[in-house]
Amino acid sequence: MSEQTSYDFQRKVKTYASADVIVIGGGPAGTAAAISAARRGKKVILLEKSAQLGGMGTLGNVSIFMPIGNVTGIYRELISEVLAEYLPEQHDVSIAPQYSPFILRQYLNEKMKKEGVQVIYHTECVGTVKEGSRLKAVIVSTREGLQAFEGLQFIDCTGDARVAIDSGVPFTSGRDEDGLTQPMTLMFMMQNTGKPIKSILPEGCYHYNEISDLPQGRHLFWEHNSEGLLLVNMTRVKGNGAKIADVNYAETEALRQVFSIVHYLQRNGFETYALSHVPNQVGVRETNQIRGLYTLTEQDVVEGRRFQDVVAQTNYEIDIHSPDGKKTTDERKVHGYDIPYRCMVPNDVENLLVAGRSISATHVAMSSMRVQPTCYALGQAAGIAAAIALDEACGTRDISINVLHDALEEQNVMFLKLATYASPE
Ligand SMILES: Cc1cc2nc3c(=O)[nH]c(=O)nc-3n(C[C@H](O)[C@H](O)[C@H](O)COP(=O)(O)OP(=O)(O)OC[C@H]3O[C@@H](n4cnc5c(N)ncnc54)[C@H](O)[C@@H]3O)c2cc1C
Repeated sequence: MSEQTSYDFQRKVKTYASADVIVIGGGPAGTAAAISAARRGKKVILLEKSAQLGGMGTLGNVSIFMPIGNVTGIYRELISEVLAEYLPEQHDVSIAPQYSPFILRQYLNEKMKKEGVQVIYHTECVGTVKEGSRLKAVIVSTREGLQAFEGLQFIDCTGDARVAIDSGVPFTSGRDEDGLTQPMTLMFMMQNTGKPIKSILPEGCYHYNEISDLPQGRHLFWEHNSEGLLLVNMTRVKGNGAKIADVNYAETEALRQVFSIVHYLQRNGFETYALSHVPNQVGVRETNQIRGLYTLTEQDVVEGRRFQDVVAQTNYEIDIHSPDGKKTTDERKVHGYDIPYRCMVPNDVENLLVAGRSISATHVAMSSMRVQPTCYALGQAAGIAAAIALDEACGTRDISINVLHDALEEQNVMFLKLATYASPE
């Protein structure tokens, strides 16, 4: 195989289906986008490359919602329907529910059915077809080979801006100075069995003795006390989750770390806990950010900026797991800020929005906005905005923000005055 060789690849691809709105990626952003667009009366198809909805929250076993200070809209509805015990009385209370990724997966399947969203699993978008400045179709790898899905509006919720990048939208990756992204982590679960476990260290794994030996140099886990379920976020592998070689290495190295950490925990306080769940893929925190009409910056986050075109609010901390292989994490409190609609709008493609963690944001700003509840909020706004663009027969950059705000309110999204944000713990 020569590094220099490149091939022209052309093929006729049949249209499998079409819809008003095609959402690509069924994570927090994609599920919320599909629901909110369907609630505006649009025919929606949601394409998901795996066999389940929920994104990192199920596939990556993240299974805890970080507090963002404004529990509202579809995210609040989800909590009330699956995690009612956590639901705060007022929408501005911070909560951080640990949940079952298996129940969330089942819940989202049923929810999509109720909302009239057509979900198609095992569909990975691998290309786009453009006509001028409009997207006409996405090319999707399916169980029946390549198929085209046509749409009037598209929402890229792949987490990697995969559709946007293929459509020519400019993007960045990682830190300005060296392009390094946050590391990957394979989150796993251990279950208290009530009796001592014979701890085994499989071949190829590491013998950790001290906290300082651990990949993050710290303990990081949450425990559902009533159920004796330990959710562990302690592996760490340097690399960019959008790069073939980095992910390849991460999948094997992270699993080595899982068994090594289990062995360590079973000797340090969790003598009766057995490894009970390892997800099928490593968790990816950061890959690509589009460059959109506005780029959210560290100053916006730190100074608590408000925006006239606000679509989501959060006070989740700046949270940067060291991109350069160190064991450190840069954690800084944040007192609440707005995320503007323009961060989801690419410059040059009229009928495309990008929601979720790959919106237009700098490396530092994305470290705060990346958590699941914010991605649900952004997805909800993107679904509504795509529907409005259809109603107003305009591009996504030209929709009326007043109409968007009214529609968000109709879908129970409430914005807070910054002073009323719950204080970060
Ligand atoms: C290790 C780790 C720990 C984290 N901890 C927390 C935490 O404690 N609490 C919290 O709230 N958040 C946490 N996060 C952050 C959060 O999980 C993610 O930032 C969030 O899930 C991003 O949502 P999203 O919808 O943008 O993308 P994702 O969740 O990544 O979902 C993207 C979806 O798109 C699909 N997809 C991708 N490419 C394609 C394609 N080409 N075609 C079709 N489908 C595609 C994927 O399969 C996936 O389902 C953590 C993340 C990681 C990795």
